Amino acid sequence: MIADCSQAPGAAGLPFWLRDIDAVYVDPSVRDAPLTRRVASRLGHLPWREAPRDGALEGRQPLYLKEYKGRFLRFCPGTRYYRCCGYRIIHIGENCPIDCSYCILRAYFQDRTLKVWANQDALWSELGKAFSTNRELRYRVGTGEFTDSLVLEPLTGYSRDLVAFLRDYPNVCLELKSKIVDLSWLDAARADRVLPAWSLNAPAMVASEEPFAASLEQRLAAARECASAGFRVCLHFDPILRYPGWDSPSDGYAATIEMIFDYLKPEQVAYLSLGSFRFLPDLKRVIETHSPQSRYLFNEFILGLDGKQRLFRPLRVEQFRFLVERLRRGGLDRQLYFCMESDEVWRAVLGRTPREMGGLGRRLEALAFGEEG
Ligand code: SF4
Repeated sequence: MIADCSQAPGAAGLPFWLRDIDAVYVDPSVRDAPLTRRVASRLGHLPWREAPRDGALEGRQPLYLKEYKGRFLRFCPGTRYYRCCGYRIIHIGENCPIDCSYCILRAYFQDRTLKVWANQDALWSELGKAFSTNRELRYRVGTGEFTDSLVLEPLTGYSRDLVAFLRDYPNVCLELKSKIVDLSWLDAARADRVLPAWSLNAPAMVASEEPFAASLEQRLAAARECASAGFRVCLHFDPILRYPGWDSPSDGYAATIEMIFDYLKPEQVAYLSLGSFRFLPDLKRVIETHSPQSRYLFNEFILGLDGKQRLFRPLRVEQFRFLVERLRRGGLDRQLYFCMESDEVWRAVLGRTPREMGGLGRRLEALAFGEEG
């Protein structure tokens, strides 16, 4: 044991998606960090060990509080071939216990270790320097690229720390993207500079492919609570999957869209992205091995310019049109954009290209900062 864990609540007090964590590893340099102490107060019932130099961690799902030595702020790894949105990532950790069958992280990371960058002093120093060097420069940032933004929040309070830190930087707008519900950070955040975001899917896909995520009702109820507190929210249909029944009114994408308008008014949505399922060969192998129930792999895929497989374009366009038509009927239009699509698809579905809107990055920045009515 290397931390005082006398106040720990035990596994019963944890949300169910964190109950597989069975050991905590810590780098010696962050042993006394505030984040480590906070995690210790919640996971004291587990064995705590110093992280071995060779990186081999034991356990079903170890949590690793690490001293991160790389850059915390980076550009999203988009591609030069498709329209990318100019988003930046604040890197706070890696991996996710929710285990969605299609998740790219299952191919990126070979094990189930949940890594958290516990040297937050280095993070604050890097971000402070970047965001104050030129206060005229605006940043649209998010933490939900290599992990879910909120999935470890009950243990780490990371997002709460981050939104409190960012209160001093009105030139930064932070998106917190998740598939679970944790609003413990809400009262520490600026409502005009934090965008709570939830990824959505068809009810049938939530049930079969996202078994540890919050239900659609819970996600949308949380979004409504944020909207009532003055926040604008973001929604993401990504990945849109093609499976038998995707267009069913009862448990296909139309049902989710109907639900959105039961919970939210269009003006409460800052933006909504649409992205079709894309994958590298490694992910296909992972899905075949670990999620044999997943039917969406049986489709016509082609190799995209970015080296990923994606659904044959007419099939993508058909699905996009189906969703966009219903989203527009409910009052969402100017907030809609595609993740990683070509101008041809933009024009065929939305009737406009990013360039005609002044560039996707600029457009999303304006929406994020609440400048387009
Ligand atoms: S919630 Fe997001 S990050 Fe976590 S497994 Fe699912 S897709 Fe991956």
